[in-house]
Amino acid sequence: MSYYTVERVTQVHHWDDKLFSFRCTRSPALQFENGQFVLIGLMVDGKPLMRAYSFVNTNTDAELEFLSIKVPDGALTSRLCQVKVGDELLVSKLPKGTLVTKDLIPGDRLLLLATGTGLAPFVSILRDPSIFDHFKEIVLVHGVRRISELAYREELEQLAAMTRFAYYPTVTREPFMHQGRIPEQIHSGQLFRDLGMPPLTVASDRVMICGNKAMLTDTVTQLDALGFQRSTRKGQPGHYLIEQAFAGVQNA
Ligand SMILES: Cc1cc2nc3c(=O)[nH]c(=O)nc-3n(C[C@H](O)[C@H](O)[C@H](O)COP(=O)(O)OP(=O)(O)OC[C@H]3O[C@@H](n4cnc5c(N)ncnc54)[C@H](O)[C@@H]3O)c2cc1C
Repeated sequence: MSYYTVERVTQVHHWDDKLFSFRCTRSPALQFENGQFVLIGLMVDGKPLMRAYSFVNTNTDAELEFLSIKVPDGALTSRLCQVKVGDELLVSKLPKGTLVTKDLIPGDRLLLLATGTGLAPFVSILRDPSIFDHFKEIVLVHGVRRISELAYREELEQLAAMTRFAYYPTVTREPFMHQGRIPEQIHSGQLFRDLGMPPLTVASDRVMICGNKAMLTDTVTQLDALGFQRSTRKGQPGHYLIEQAFAGVQNA
C-alpha cells in the first residue's frame, strides 16, 4: 500500500518571484494537529519526489493549503512552482511535527516567531479561533528580507483588527515600518516597545519558533538565559517549542 494519496491542485497564488501558496483536495483519512507538517511532492521520472511542508490550513478545513519557497534549482520547488489547477499532488499519510500548542505549559501571552515560510504553521494555528481560549494575548512576528515576502499580510492585519492578536512584520533588506532581525528586536526590547507591551518573562510568556537556523539559535539562547524550558518531546510540556526539523533549512 502506498504511503501517500494523490490529490488535485484546486488553487494557486504567487506572492512574488520567490513565494507561492496553493490548495489541493484532502483525503478524509488525513488527520493532523494545527502546526504540524507533512511530506508532499510530485511524480518525477516515475518516482515520488517528496519534501516536508507545514499545513497552512487547519485540521477542520476541507482542503489542504501550503506556502512554498521557489528555489530556482531546487529539485522539488523548481517543478512545484509550475503546478496549475487540476494537476496531481502527492501527500503523505503521516503528518508530524512538534509545533502543537498542547505541548506548552499554560501561559498568558503566546509569541509566534517565524522567518520566511516558517510562517505557515502559525497561520494554521491562528486560523483556529480556539487558540484564543488558551491565551489572553497572541503576538506573531514575521521576519523576511523583502516586503513582497510578507505572505498572508492582509489576512493577518484583519485578524489583528478583530482579536487580541498583534501582528508584527519585520523586514531586513528594505525600508519598512519595522526593520531588523527577530532576535535583535527581542534583545533590544524594540519589539515590545513598538507593541506597547511588557518584555518577555517566563511567568507569563510562551513561545513557538519556526524559521532559519540563525534566528532559531539566537532566540533560543535568549529564552534559555531567561529561564524558559523547551518542550523536548511530545507530551512533555515546556515554555517554548521549536520545529526541530525545519531548523536545517538555512534561508527560510
Ligand atoms: C519540518 C519542515 C517543514 C517545512 N515546511 C516548509 C514549508 O511550509 N514551506 C516551504 O517552502 N518549505 C518548507 N520546508 C522546506 C522544504 O521541505 C524543502 O526544502 C523546500 O520545498 C525546497 O525543496 P527543493 O527540493 O526545491 O530544494 P531543496 O534541495 O530541499 O533545498 C535547496 C536549498 O533551498 C533552501 N531551502 C529549502 N527550503 C527553504 C525554505 N522554505 N525557505 C528558504 N530556503 C529554503 C535549502 O536550505 C537548500 O539550501 C520544510 C522543511 C522541514 C524540514
